[in-house]
Amino acid sequence: MTPPDWHTRAANLTPPRQAFIDGKAVDAASGETFDCISPVDGRLLTRVASCGAEDVERAVVSARRAFEDGRWSARTPTQRKRVLQKLGELMQQHREELALLETLDMGKPIADALGIDVPASVRCVLWTAEAIDKVYGEVAPTGPDELGLITREPLGVIAAIVPWNFPLLMAVWKLAPALATGNSVVLKPSEKSPLTALRLAELAIEAGIPAGVLNVLPGFGKTAGEPLALHMDVDGLVFTGSTAVGKHLLGCAARSNMKRAYMECGGKSPNVVFADAPSLQQAAQAAASGIFFNQGEVCTAASRLLVERSVKDEFVAMVVAAGRRMQPRHPLDPDAPMGAMVDEVQMRRVLGYIEQGRAQGAQLRLGGSRTLTETGGYYIEPTIFDDVQPQMTIAREEIFGPVLSVIGFDGEEEGLRIANDTPYGLAAGVWTRDISKAHRMARRLRAGSVWVNYWDGGDMTAPFGGYKQSGNGRDKSLHAFEKYTELKATWVNLG
Ligand code: NAD
Repeated sequence: MTPPDWHTRAANLTPPRQAFIDGKAVDAASGETFDCISPVDGRLLTRVASCGAEDVERAVVSARRAFEDGRWSARTPTQRKRVLQKLGELMQQHREELALLETLDMGKPIADALGIDVPASVRCVLWTAEAIDKVYGEVAPTGPDELGLITREPLGVIAAIVPWNFPLLMAVWKLAPALATGNSVVLKPSEKSPLTALRLAELAIEAGIPAGVLNVLPGFGKTAGEPLALHMDVDGLVFTGSTAVGKHLLGCAARSNMKRAYMECGGKSPNVVFADAPSLQQAAQAAASGIFFNQGEVCTAASRLLVERSVKDEFVAMVVAAGRRMQPRHPLDPDAPMGAMVDEVQMRRVLGYIEQGRAQGAQLRLGGSRTLTETGGYYIEPTIFDDVQPQMTIAREEIFGPVLSVIGFDGEEEGLRIANDTPYGLAAGVWTRDISKAHRMARRLRAGSVWVNYWDGGDMTAPFGGYKQSGNGRDKSLHAFEKYTELKATWVNLG
């Protein structure tokens, strides 16, 4: 089979641009649009509807109506399963189009969009669909005169606000369990990456999800996100994004109707390499791809590399060599190891952190600059700082770019102390061949996911989420259903 000619396809692509409300593609009520710029080359892709409070109102009313009349919520789990399976199949059929939209919209390499983002999104939808008619309620352990039924019911209308780093995947991590459990959804994708969510809404209608059950509102945080978060008729607010916005949204939930609120937020994850790692070479490769994958725009990026001092110099040299091989290229090049930063703002933000690292005395060992400027796009070299002190800004704040901070330590206790010295708690890695040390560390690391002797393991079968200021609640696995349902106890007097 000849590989797709991505450049020709990109030239012929017509991206979606309208909001999706009550089963129809519509302009924003105000008629306003925003420019959707491709970070690949800085060119305009399309102008997308910029939704505001009036569109939020239309979408929530439509979602509420759909929920109350039971067109989706009253279907059996098996019926909902079939429709969601159809959606997963359609996504699979349109995988190249979805991957291309993702790459052009947010700059990630096409090989990653096609090989990771889209398959993981399809698997999320299919796995969740398959699970929904296998989840049972409970019967309370009572005496003979009463019956206590414990059941889960959908919340009602869910607002989902998602980020730009894995636009389709983050959307389906919310949509799939929300829809599977019978809710209606209003989704707000990031203003930096609205395209795949809009295409997904069209595929959802084609799959048989009734009008009003899934609405998509492209637009900005303040003008589209906030009215959703404050809406009195939204029952659940689920969010993935930065910790600052997550905290703000918890306040919106509190100030409005105490809607259920779950926030998946940022990270500054420690990757702890002991001298007795099974293979320093493999650990070095994983350390590099753990931070440079997706241009470092990953909530679980391995952004703090903690290395035992006895092997630090040798190990850092290996990571630098691995990083050097990951230079960004045009994202439509199927061999690009890294692509473009999502936009100029994010590129400048990351370059600002690199300047702070230099100014605070960290040793720049690789990269440190913008590159591929002639493309008109926004690219940064893989960047590695050694001799980083735990209190430096680049060791504490989430950079969300291809910047690695290397910190030395001596022994288990110091490694653990530095690893846990962060407001975040999303993920952590440990490299050692000592199984007892690995388990001791895994137990004491304050993080929602811990990886032993690799980085970034995970699957739909296990929950994902954070400790501390990385958020609350969990996506993926059967635990995800907890966010989208209320527990009800029904008591029947048998006496
Ligand atoms: P962001 O917080 O700036 O934006 C996320 C979403 O919130 C966007 O849709 C944005 O429009 C919206 N938003 C912004 N301000 C708002 C407001 N006042 N009211 C309502 N909505 C508002 O985050 P981002 O820059 O898009 O994404 C990067 C962040 O996402 C990083 O911190 C990253 O760690 C985090 N992230 C976390 C996970 C996870 O699962 N924990 C996964 C991916 C990304």
